[in-house]
Amino acid sequence: MAADLVLLGPPGSGKGTQAARLTAKYRIPQIATGDILRAAVDAGTPLGQQVKAYLDRGELVPDSLVVDIIRHRLAEPDSKQGFILDGFPRTVPQAQALDALLSELQRPLDAVLYLQVDRRSLLDRLSHRAAVDQRSDDRPEIIAHRIDVFLEQTAPLIDYYRQQSKLRLIDGTRPPEEVAAAIDEVLRSLG
Ligand code: AMP
Repeated sequence: MAADLVLLGPPGSGKGTQAARLTAKYRIPQIATGDILRAAVDAGTPLGQQVKAYLDRGELVPDSLVVDIIRHRLAEPDSKQGFILDGFPRTVPQAQALDALLSELQRPLDAVLYLQVDRRSLLDRLSHRAAVDQRSDDRPEIIAHRIDVFLEQTAPLIDYYRQQSKLRLIDGTRPPEEVAAAIDEVLRSLG
């Protein structure tokens, strides 16, 4: 299967888990801006030094930085067969930049999968994750802020993609295997 997909959803909605599974199953790369930024911070690169404070505060980094990352990443040969964007776009300007980039490449998005999860479940999941993965932004006050940032800056993308008839809603509160089955169903319907 070749598919150009976006996984959209609040922090803790299971995007990373589902993207990793899709990558293993369909052999198309998962492109996670959060992972790329954290790796840059850990490696102490100039980009990492520039973005560290944003990540620590749970704020979005400037659009131009992530758009550049995606532009370079989509030029890599492994994305020819398709890609799963995980955590990008996160603002309307990012989505517009992505549309412009994909139209240059003449490969419009096939679908945007929106993993819907209520705030209470997100808080539960992220506080559990904090115990295992030691992310600097999985502290309780930062977790709550990241959810607010999602609601303010990223949730408008739901309408953005609904208007393009690209949006597919997935109930993300269910166990991971059931969410995976729902995603497979959507992908089958894309043909
Ligand atoms: P994530 O791993 O997707 O939860 O991302 C972790 C952090 O990386 C976010 O809280 C932001 O600080 C930053 N980040 C990741 N993706 C983006 C993006 N598309 N736009 C802006 N900031 C981002």
